Parts: sequence; structure tokens; C-alpha cells
Amino acid sequence: MNYERQPYRRCGRSGLLLPAVSLGLWHNFGEGKALDGRRAILRKALDLGITHFDLADRYGPPLGSAEETFGAIAAKDLRGLREEYVVATKGANPMWDGPYGSGNSRKHLLATLDRSLARLGLAHVDIFYLHRDDADTPLEEQAAALDHFVRSGRALYVGVSNFSPARTAEIAAMLRSLGTPLLVHQPAYSLLRRTIEDELLGVLESVGAGCVVYSPLAQGLLTDRYLDGIPADSRAAEGRFLTADQVTPEVLAFVRALAGLAATRGQTVAQLALAWALRDPRVTSVLVGASGPEQLEANVAAVDRLGLTTEELAAIDLAAKE
Ligand code: NDP
Repeated sequence: MNYERQPYRRCGRSGLLLPAVSLGLWHNFGEGKALDGRRAILRKALDLGITHFDLADRYGPPLGSAEETFGAIAAKDLRGLREEYVVATKGANPMWDGPYGSGNSRKHLLATLDRSLARLGLAHVDIFYLHRDDADTPLEEQAAALDHFVRSGRALYVGVSNFSPARTAEIAAMLRSLGTPLLVHQPAYSLLRRTIEDELLGVLESVGAGCVVYSPLAQGLLTDRYLDGIPADSRAAEGRFLTADQVTPEVLAFVRALAGLAATRGQTVAQLALAWALRDPRVTSVLVGASGPEQLEANVAAVDRLGLTTEELAAIDLAAKE
């Protein structure tokens, strides 16, 4: 583990520090990808001081296989290092058939977390998230389940993902009264998706929770990946979560404008996009994905130039409007 490579930032008003750049295992860790390639990404992460790995029960495909992969690699490559890294997982989305196979009931969440722990080969995760809100389950039940996971030793901290600002404030108040404060929210955030600036970041600051943002590169759109067409090995070519029709002329024009700005800072578009997301101290960490170790290495280099001037920010806002 190379702790010198990047800064560690405090997650809200908790005791937990997270690396500025964290690794997500949503893509590239399921079956059908060479184990050596997946191991190379994780080993590179350690070299880059990435101490925080983000998973979910569903990540694969098939469901659960990213956790299995992480567990298998960790058993070898991370042996003896359990105190040096943070593993997050999530539950709520459909995992199996029947009335207990999804949602935020205590019944489903407990079962899915226990299955995650078995796949990961861990006694506890560091962070357990509600992957989404569930309007059909009382918020009190959701909060009580999270509190129980901490008290029973299955998780050290708890978070929510994709919750609205109002529901975040509500569950944060419930968790505080239970004695298990909300550690973190995990929303989408990128130069193409800025909704959290309106309200959520203010709520998180007021309740003392951190913010770990996902898809800060808009799944690869905010990189040079698509400037000359859609490469056969890209996520847009795979077409499951990012589709070719999202690679629009408008997006490409924005990325080209960003590339010009990035060049004046000695950065790539991806590095500029990450530095931009990290400009706000309320954003604890950017959660990137990588299909190879070289992408991860390039992305972490964003921390070598984080500050943005008022003029640079204005130029970015202008390019976004054009
Ligand atoms: P990013 O926006 O960082 O997109 C990652 C993808 O962009 C890579 O897989 C790669 O795609 C491409 N890419 C990355 N770096 C470069 C580079 N330097 N040059 C060119 N292309 C690059 O994040 P993700 O969308 O992967 O999300 C990150 C994590 O966030 C997930 O793994 C997951 O942990 C979490 N997440 C959480 C969600 C939630 O609901 N809570 C939802 C979505 C994500 P390619 O395959 O084309 O090479």
C-alpha cells in the first residue's frame, strides 16, 4: 500500500478518512473477465494508495460475482491487510425471487448482507449502504436495520445511496437518535450530472455525512475514450448501462472543449473531470471504475493538480452551456 500517492479526506464529521480516488467494482469484476486482469487492477489500486473498494450485492454479472472475485483476490493479495482497507457493499435491489428478494425490509437486508459477507469472506464490511430508498418500507424500519447491522458487528458504518435530500435528512435524524450516525451518501455526480449541487450537498453538510460520488467520469463519457468513435472494448459498445446513443455530438463537443482546458493545466479530460468533482470539500471521494490498471493510474494522477481557479471554473460552466 502506497499511502504517499494520494490525499485521504475526512468523510463528513466522522473519524473515517477515505482516499480522494476510490475504486468501484460495478463493472469488470464479474465472470467472463480474466482473473489476472481483475487482480492487476486491484494490485494497481494498492500501489496507488486506494484503500477503499466499493461493491454491491448485485455487482457482476452474474449477481454476486464481483463480491466473490474480490473475496478470492483479497484472500491472496490482501492477506494480513484487513486493517488497511475499507470495503463497502450495498443491498436493496433485486437479488432473488419472492417477497424477500429485494427492497429495504429488515428481512431482505439482513439476508442479503449475510450473503455478501459470505461471498467476500469477511466477518464485517466497513460500510453498508441502502442502495436505494424504498417508499413501501417505513423509514424507521430501514434505519433500525442499519443500526442493527452495526450493533451486531456486520458493518462498522452505514450509508445511503440515491436517496432524495429530504429522505436523507429524515433517515439521518433517525440514525442519530439510534446512536448510529449516517456516515455517507453515495449519489451520482459528474460534469454531466450536477443535481446534488442544488440541495443534497447542503443537507449532507448539515447532518455531518460525507459524500462519495459515483460515475464521476459519466461511465467514460468524460474521457477521451469516444472522441474517435466507439471502441469495440468500451462500455458504450457493450451497451448494457451506457449506450451508443448517449455518445451524442453535444457530449463530444463538450468533451473537446474540456480537453482544451485540461491541456492548459497539463491534464487529460478525465483528470480534469475528477479534479472538478473534488473541488468541493463536501465531496469526500470520487468512485471511479477502470477496465485496466493504466486507466486507474491515469485517474489517480488527477490529485497532482486539484485546485481550479475561478476563471477555469467559469470556462467549464460556459462550455457546459454551449
Ligand atoms: P466512471 O464514471 O469512473 O466510469 C468508469 C469507466 O470509464 C471505466 O470502466 C472505463 O470504461 C472508462 N474510463 C475510466 N477511466 C478512463 C480513462 N482514464 N480513460 C478512458 N476511459 C476511462 O465510474 P463507473 O460508472 O464505473 O462507477 C464507479 C463506481 O461507482 C462503480 O464501480 C460502483 O462502485 C459505483 N456506482 C454506484 C451506483 C449506485 O447506485 N450507488 C451506480 C453506479 C456506480 P471502459 O470500460 O469503456 O474502458
